[in-house]
Order: sequence, then structure tokens, then C-alpha cells
Amino acid sequence: MLNPGNPQSIDNTVLQILEEVVPRNAIYTDADMSGLTSFKAGGKASVLVEPETDEQIAIAAMRLFEKNVPFFILGNGTNTLVKDTGYKGVVIHVGKKFNKTIVEGDRIIAYAGASLSSVAREAANAGLKGMEFAAGIPGSVGGAVAMNAGAYGGEMKDIIETVTVIGENGEPREIRARDMAFGYRTSRIQNEKLIVTKVVIKLTRGDKNDIFVRMDELAALRREKQPLELPSAGSTFKRPEGNYAGKLIMEAGLRGYRIGGAEVSEKHCGFIVNTGNATATDIVNLMTYVMKTVFEKSGIMLEPEIVVLG
Ligand SMILES: Cc1cc2nc3c(=O)[nH]c(=O)nc-3n(C[C@H](O)[C@H](O)[C@H](O)COP(=O)(O)OP(=O)(O)OC[C@H]3O[C@@H](n4cnc5c(N)ncnc54)[C@H](O)[C@@H]3O)c2cc1C
Repeated sequence: MLNPGNPQSIDNTVLQILEEVVPRNAIYTDADMSGLTSFKAGGKASVLVEPETDEQIAIAAMRLFEKNVPFFILGNGTNTLVKDTGYKGVVIHVGKKFNKTIVEGDRIIAYAGASLSSVAREAANAGLKGMEFAAGIPGSVGGAVAMNAGAYGGEMKDIIETVTVIGENGEPREIRARDMAFGYRTSRIQNEKLIVTKVVIKLTRGDKNDIFVRMDELAALRREKQPLELPSAGSTFKRPEGNYAGKLIMEAGLRGYRIGGAEVSEKHCGFIVNTGNATATDIVNLMTYVMKTVFEKSGIMLEPEIVVLG
């Protein structure tokens, strides 16, 4: 549960900065991040803010930047784990207040807090093709842009036309997709600490029924192959060039390997899952163990895909 702001428990100047920007009841201290991240594990953030407008995000980020206060942009928390020791900084949650989608011809204007899967369904309903791959990705639009999320041969970079961001100076600007430095699960958003507020997605006209059929096929594939019944953050590691993380982990004999409540999924070795009572430490220790063992067995060093905060 989130606690309403309590100036006693953290540095007052940080709270003062934030109180000038967002309503007091949108500021939480010692915020338990396990409820806001899909692993359902992990520690607290010193402060969590829930801005309501782009302007509030921009001013909050700019002031925190000027004062050298660390901050992190959180979307739907489906690729993020906060260490048990917590995050000594401010989490800016781009959440439900930014959940808006507008269909205009063959374009979709989606705000950063919209859920990617809902946007994909809106596209399908409008008879727009090209977003089927995204229907089962549980992140927000902002997180999907930052990570260049992708699946089953599609990636965000293939469908994005422009991205509206807020940079260090607090000014919104529009970046064309080709200037986004999209790569495999990466973009310039992370490297330059930009904040995504809006994206224009360009799709093509298609047959509504065919689009839904394809989405259903992909959803069935996910249910069959992925441990969707347990909390996780999706694929724990990036896919190494010319190989698969899950295959390497399985070949290293780690299927079902456990540390505390964290487990290499029996169903899909590329996923670490929380079997019920995992701590973030269990998960991080298991990630480290997997990386070490896979390296010893194959000579390949896996790289985490999930963002570990703290
Ligand atoms: C069951 C399951 C299945 C998954 N399947 C897939 C899959 O098929 N393909 C895939 O690519 N991923 C998959 N994921 C991972 C995850 O859903 C994606 O990476 C998603 O894009 C993350 O979005 P989010 O909003 O949850 O991001 P968060 O976890 O909130 O944040 C992830 C990163 O994005 C940044 N970020 C978030 N919002 C913004 C913003 N508005 N502006 C700037 N930066 C921002 C954060 O700072 C952080 O660096 C899966 C996860 C789960 C749990």
C-alpha cells in the first residue's frame, strides 16, 4: 500500500520541490514498489509521485534534475525490479492519468500511460493492422517505446512514426522514429533520460477479423509457452546474438533451479518467476547465478533485459 506523504521520513527539500508541482495527495513516501511491479517483490521508493499532466511531469523532472535528486520514470512496472534495500530517489509514475488513445485514420495517437495491449485492441477494432505482436505485452506505451518492446517478429520501431518526449530542459519535443536510436530492447530514451509522453503509431488497413484471429493465435502461443500464471517481468535476459537465453539456461541444467522463492521457470527457462514469496534479493541472486553458470558452460555472458533499480 502507498502511504500519503509524510515529510518526517525523507529529505524535506525533495518534498517541498514536489509539493510546488503536484498536489499533495499525489505524493507518497516509502512507497512499496512490489505492488507496482509485475514481479510482486522488492523494496520501497523514498518517494513516489503520480503527476496528472505533461507539464507536471516536465517541471518535476526538471527541478529534481537541477537539484541532483535521482529519479526514475515508471510505467506499468512489467520490466522493473526494485531491490529490497529500496530506491533512494523519486519514482515518477506515468500511469492511469496518461491513459488516452485517439484513432485518426490509419494513425493512433497513444499517451504514455496507456496499456500497450489496449492500444493494440483499439487498433484491431478500428481495422488497423501491424500491432498484433504487441497485444500480449503487458507494459505501458511509454515503457514499450523506451524498451523498443517486441515479440513474434514485430517491434515498436516498426510501427512508430514520432515520439513526443520531455528532456532535461523540460520542453516537449517530437522525435521521428528514425532518430530514436531504436535497437534490440533499447532506444535513446534510456541513454538520454528522456520521458515519453505521447507516440504516433502508423498502421495499415486490414481485415478486422484476420487481425483478431492473429492476436488470438499469438495469445495462445504465449499461454502455451510462457509461465503467465506466476509473477515475472517477462524474459529476464536479452537474446544473445544467434542464440536464445532460454535454450542456454536449459542446456546449463538450470530448468527449475531455485533460490529462495525465485525460480527458473520449468515452462520457459528464459523467465525467472516468483513462486510466491520471492524477495528481490532472491531474484537478483538467481539472475547472477544463471549468468555465471551459463557463462561457465557456454562461454556466453547473458545480459539482463529487466531494469533493476536501487
Ligand atoms: C508476462 C510478461 C510478458 C512479457 N512479454 C514481453 C514481450 O513479448 N516483449 C517485450 O519486449 N517485453 C515483454 N515483457 C516486458 C515488458 O512488458 C516490456 O518491456 C514493456 O515494454 C515494459 O513496459 P512498462 O510500462 O511495464 O515499463 P516499466 O517496467 O515501468 O519500465 C521499463 C523501462 O522503461 C522506462 N519507462 C517506462 N515508461 C517510460 C516513459 N513514459 N518515458 C520514459 N521511460 C519510460 C523505465 O524508466 C524503465 O527503464 C513482458 C513482461 C511480462 C511480465
